Amino acid sequence: MIKLTERQDKILQIVKKNGPITGQEIAEKLSLTRAALRPDLAILTMSGKLDARPRVGYFFNENYEVKRQAEKFLHQKVIDYKAHPIVVDKSTAVYDAIVQLFLEDVGTLYAVDSRGHLAGVVSRKDLLRASLGNKNLHELPVSVIMTRMPNIFTIQPDATLLEAAKKMIDNHIDSLPVVKEVEEQENTYLLLGRITKTTITRAYLEIMER
Ligand code: ADP
Repeated sequence: MIKLTERQDKILQIVKKNGPITGQEIAEKLSLTRAALRPDLAILTMSGKLDARPRVGYFFNENYEVKRQAEKFLHQKVIDYKAHPIVVDKSTAVYDAIVQLFLEDVGTLYAVDSRGHLAGVVSRKDLLRASLGNKNLHELPVSVIMTRMPNIFTIQPDATLLEAAKKMIDNHIDSLPVVKEVEEQENTYLLLGRITKTTITRAYLEIMER
């Protein structure tokens, strides 16, 4: 995306507010001659930011704005949107995990081992399935019912929200642990946060409403 000069940005704002507006009228607002503005108007129309119609004038290209916002959205980083991970020890009883789910108002818990490394993911359905089995939920640890490492899909903090969204959709999951790999230990991760489908929706709204 080309960077606009200060004057081009001013023209864009004028057209956004007053369009359709003629080149002459824009020039008057900027106390410039029509000729002096010509190169700027050419750049703005050629790059698609402005549209021009003969005898009508210049007007703002809404599609361009939407595209710009969408592009901005796609390049946002996981690190700037991640939420706190809700963590339980993998020895936690299923009963207590269910209580935790309600208390924290989340859909997924992450289980960690004694060293604090990511050991598993416990989702709503994992907990429901375990509850259906009529087992003693106070005795059953989440480590028995969770999805375990190395089968966990994770995301790095410097990945984009687009990559995160794609990973969740492709793998039919609601959340991704944001992780940092422990040096020289394969499949050993420290938890930095979580990205959920809600995170993606919130980021989308934030950027589109801005
Ligand atoms: P729900 O159970 O509420 O539908 P999910 O769709 O996220 O939630 O979970 C579906 C299954 O996928 C569960 O068995 C869960 O343990 C597993 N799962 C969830 N997140 C991940 C992940 N990041 N990596 C691997 N498996 C996951």
